[in-house]
Amino acid sequence: MKVAVFSSKTYDREFLTAANNNLETPLQLIFHEAQLNQHSTLLAQGCAAVCCFVNDQLDATVLQQLAKSGVKLVALRCAGFNQVDLAEAKKLDIKIARVAEYSPHAVAEHALALILMLNRQLHRAYRRVHDNDYSLNGLLGFDLVNKTVGVIGTGKIGHTFARIMQGIGCEVIAYDLQPDPALAASGVTYVALEDLWPAADIISLHCPLNIHTHHLINATTIDQMKAGVMLINTSRGGLIDTRAVIAGLKNKNVGYLGLDVYEEEANLFFEDNSNSLLQDDIFARLMTFPNVVVTGHQAFFTREALTTIARITLDNIRYFEQNDFSNMVLVG
Ligand code: NAD
Repeated sequence: MKVAVFSSKTYDREFLTAANNNLETPLQLIFHEAQLNQHSTLLAQGCAAVCCFVNDQLDATVLQQLAKSGVKLVALRCAGFNQVDLAEAKKLDIKIARVAEYSPHAVAEHALALILMLNRQLHRAYRRVHDNDYSLNGLLGFDLVNKTVGVIGTGKIGHTFARIMQGIGCEVIAYDLQPDPALAASGVTYVALEDLWPAADIISLHCPLNIHTHHLINATTIDQMKAGVMLINTSRGGLIDTRAVIAGLKNKNVGYLGLDVYEEEANLFFEDNSNSLLQDDIFARLMTFPNVVVTGHQAFFTREALTTIARITLDNIRYFEQNDFSNMVLVG
C-alpha cells in the first residue's frame, strides 16, 4: 500500500523506515516535508493512506480533497486528534487511526523537566555561567517536597506524572471526569476544579483539547489560583488563553509558565525559523518574561517514544490493509 507521509522530518524517516523494514511486506512510504493542508493534498494522489502529525490540517476541506484522491485512511502518528474534523471523516468514510499510547513517561518526564527548569531558573543560570557570571540574585527556587501539585487529566500521561510528583514528595490533587481508582488508592486526592485552583502550587495540564477544555486556563480561572502559581502545559496549546496568562504574568498571579505547546504553534513549531522575523506578537511577548520557558512540542521526543509511535502507526496501516479494523486504534 502507498502511504503519503506528511510533515516528515529526518527523525520520522529514520524511525518509520526502520519499523517498515521489520514488516513482512513493507509499505510504500512516500515522505513529504510539506504540512498537510488545502495546498498540499495533491501529494496524496494515488495513496490509500496518509500519515499525519499534530499540526497537519485535517479539516472538512482537506478531508474532502483527500477523499477525492482516493484516501481511505488517516494514520495519525500522535495521540491527540483535535486537528481532525471527525464528523466529516465519518461522512466521507475515511478511517482515522492514532497512537493512543507510546510513552507516557516521555511527556510526564518533560513536564517535570519544565518544573525543575523554572523553579531552579536553570535557563537563566546556564546563560549566566557562560557569561562568567556566578551571581545568584534572582535564581532563588523552592523545595518541591510538600508542595501541592494539581493534575488536570489523569489518563496515561497524567497518571504517570502524578506518580513522579508523589515520588518527589509532593501532595498531589487531581481533577478528571473519570477519576482513576488506582491513583486515588495511591494517595492522590480527586477534587472539584474550583477546589483545585486555589490549592495548587503547581498546575499541570494533561487533559485533551476539545470544546469543553478550550481555554480552561483563562482570566477567571487564573483569578482563583494561588498567587505565584506555576502553570505547566504539555498537552495542547488551546487549553490556555495566552492573552489571559500574559496578563496573569504581568500582575504576578502567575509566577511561572512552562509550555511545550502553544495555541498558535502550527505556524511556528517543528521548523527552523531562525532566518525569519517572528510575526506572532503574543508569542513574542511571552518570550520577554524571565519566568516563562517554552519548548517546541518536544515532550514526546524520546527514542523509546519514536520507536513505539512508528511501530503502532505502521501496524494501524497494515491492519487497515487487511480489513482488520478490530486491531486498529481507531478514533470516532
Ligand atoms: P488519555 O486519553 O490517556 O488521558 C486524558 C485524560 O483526560 C482522561 O483520563 C480523560 O478522562 C481526561 N479528561 C477528558 N476531558 C477532561 C476534562 N474536561 N477535564 C479533565 N479531564 C478530562 O491521554 P494521554 O495519553 O494521557 O494524553 C493527554 C494529552 O497529552 C493528549 O490529549 C495530548 O493532547 C497530549 N500529548 C502531548 C504530547 C507532547 O509531545 N507534548 C504528547 C502526547 C500527548
